[in-house]
Amino acid sequence: MPRVARLLRDASTRIDATDAAVLLAHVAARPRSWLYAHGDDELDGAVADAFAMLLARREAGEPVAYLTGRRGFWRFELAVTPDTLIPRPETERLVELALARLPPERALRVADLGTGSGAVALALAHERPHACVVATDASSAALAVARGNAAELAIANIESREGDWCAPLAGDCFDLIAANPPYIAAGDPHLGEGDLRFEPDAALASGDDGLDAIRAIVRDAPARLVPGGWLLLEHGWEQGTAVRALLQQAGFIEVSTERDLEARDRVTLGRIPAGVAPL
Ligand code: GLN
Repeated sequence: MPRVARLLRDASTRIDATDAAVLLAHVAARPRSWLYAHGDDELDGAVADAFAMLLARREAGEPVAYLTGRRGFWRFELAVTPDTLIPRPETERLVELALARLPPERALRVADLGTGSGAVALALAHERPHACVVATDASSAALAVARGNAAELAIANIESREGDWCAPLAGDCFDLIAANPPYIAAGDPHLGEGDLRFEPDAALASGDDGLDAIRAIVRDAPARLVPGGWLLLEHGWEQGTAVRALLQQAGFIEVSTERDLEARDRVTLGRIPAGVAPL
């Protein structure tokens, strides 16, 4: 029977060593730390076979998150599938910036457009239990994943609605709308590299300049925001100037771009004027 250390050593000649440990821990249903403390332990054949299969798939490029079905985001270990984007650490910046504009203890209405696995919506709903969060997505398969995550995390102040961008918000007004929409230019060679090859194209690419989804959201969001309400959009590191211009043209005020942990432009935000006070 194969021993843990041997399996890891052999796998590390084929894929990244950390990826190998994550995959072996997954099939062995043990924490990764267990592997390192039990290098001489033997694993049964079924576990070794399952590991061999995942190893081959990883070698062929499949993202680790799709192989384990899990990815950490915020305080959670979310379920992800090939129907959803794999949550990125930089998107936690979008969550932080939204939370800074959502006073606790108030019954605010919040929307997350193109929620995918539900990452942003769930983080906001969890941190603001008095808020009511609407999570939208055009993909019913993605919404099923988001609902599963909400159920697993027992987060109840969240509702899912199917449709494009602001369309499922019709008739309602929100204090804050956040989105991590697709923003990569359709012809960008990165789409043919790494994990992106396996992620849903609709979650990544958006027209010739990558801004189609952002333009649609900026066009429709003002009608869905209360006076003084905020719109926050994640975007590519070279799109800050373009997204600020779109928000300003649409009448948003206090428009600014915030950077991610790697000091790259990542989130642009603005608010609807609070309205003219009556004389
Ligand atoms: N930030 C992701 C990437 O560049 C793209 C995600 C998105 O388009 N929202 O890999």
